[in-house]
Amino acid sequence: MVCVCRAYKAGKGAVTVPLVRGETTVIFKNVPADVCQNCGEYYLDETTTQNLLEYAEEAVKRGAEIEVIRLAA
Ligand SMILES: [Zn+2]
Repeated sequence: MVCVCRAYKAGKGAVTVPLVRGETTVIFKNVPADVCQNCGEYYLDETTTQNLLEYAEEAVKRGAEIEVIRLAA
């Protein structure tokens, strides 16, 4: 896997991912990701992305304005 900066150095890390859907903002903290040690760009795996999107959809249905979710390490 090559980062957009073309100097990808793989490093497991945890990132904060904000998702905005219309009026709803969900901020996920401590999301496991591959983090580029050169530029800080992060890459989520497919399962993680899917989980975050599904949660965001649920928050939209609840009419939530802003939610902050801290994932377990
Ligand atoms: Zn990079």
